[in-house]
Amino acid sequence: MTANESAISEADWRRATELIRAAGTLALACHVSPDADALGSMLGLGLALARTGKKVVASFGDRVFAVPRLLRFLPGQHLLAEPSAYPAEPELMITFDASTMERLGLLAPHAGKAGELVVIDHHVSNTGFGTVHLVDPAAASTTMVVEELMNRLGLTIDREVATCLYAGLVTDTGSFRHSITTPAAHAMAGRLLATGLRPEEIARELWDRSPFAYLRVLGTALGRATLEPDAAGGLGLVWTYVTRADRAAEGLPYDEVEGVIDVVRRVDEAEVAVVLKEDDEGGWNVSTRSKGAVDMARACAALGGGGHPRAAGFSSALSAADTMAALRPLLAPEGSRP
Ligand code: AMP
Ligand code: MN
Ligand code: MN
Repeated sequence: MTANESAISEADWRRATELIRAAGTLALACHVSPDADALGSMLGLGLALARTGKKVVASFGDRVFAVPRLLRFLPGQHLLAEPSAYPAEPELMITFDASTMERLGLLAPHAGKAGELVVIDHHVSNTGFGTVHLVDPAAASTTMVVEELMNRLGLTIDREVATCLYAGLVTDTGSFRHSITTPAAHAMAGRLLATGLRPEEIARELWDRSPFAYLRVLGTALGRATLEPDAAGGLGLVWTYVTRADRAAEGLPYDEVEGVIDVVRRVDEAEVAVVLKEDDEGGWNVSTRSKGAVDMARACAALGGGGHPRAAGFSSALSAADTMAALRPLLAPEGSRP
């Protein structure tokens, strides 16, 4: 494939646009514990379609259905419905930023029974679980794929829709810092900014505000950070964890600790950074980052998760220590594996 050639075939674009044009009702779903790319791509397309008179229902399959506080500023929240109110056998279902059927959580059975299932994503690990696939691993965010789909459908990208798409773009590129930051990503940002959206307000909502309790819990997590210089083939590992007891002591909800990894991953002495976050049910969600020498998508996939080469995750029912013991042997740098 050349740089100009999309991973998505013309036949798939045509099929997706035909299905969406023909459908009266659209059932949208993004991955569980949605991030800005998952929710932004879903609500952006949902808003634009709803404005053309389509009936739109949007959801995600978490057992406790709640939009993370950080993402409540995204326009289009009125389109959201709990999984219990989601159509059991949607005529047309569209998924966003989910690399596998399992990532749909409670909505996976609905996807299994959908008449047609359009999968919109940018994970290289996408398993191709739909009937039509708009999956482009070269796209910095799922919202980049959604923008092209909207253009092909002739939908209007106004400031509210643009806010949703921009939130996904700016999050998944790490504010245009990650290696996936292509000319196309900046060009899209330029088009979205031209709608009049407020990048400083979006950045503040996403990264620059927290309840005071976050400082306390962050302090606890950083206080127990461990550096293992010999791990990851000698390139180094830094890791820490946040328990539900840490959060309960300060009254901090789970979704407030997503940003801890962004502090931990800055450590010069470590190629790999890991943060284990205990949810309210006692399970661990593990965030992992590398600087490029260790393929985190591969390591996390071996433990039932997935993601991108430099940013991936998995869930674990083991203790924190046992979870780390399972992860450590998987951190061999590229080229050093047998
Ligand atoms: P996070 O550390 O939660 O920001 O997640 C980083 C990336 O890892 C996400 O963009 C997802 O692509 C992926 N990811 C996280 N958790 C999982 C999981 N349990 N299963 C599959 N992929 C995951
Ligand atoms: Mn995501
Ligand atoms: Mn994404």
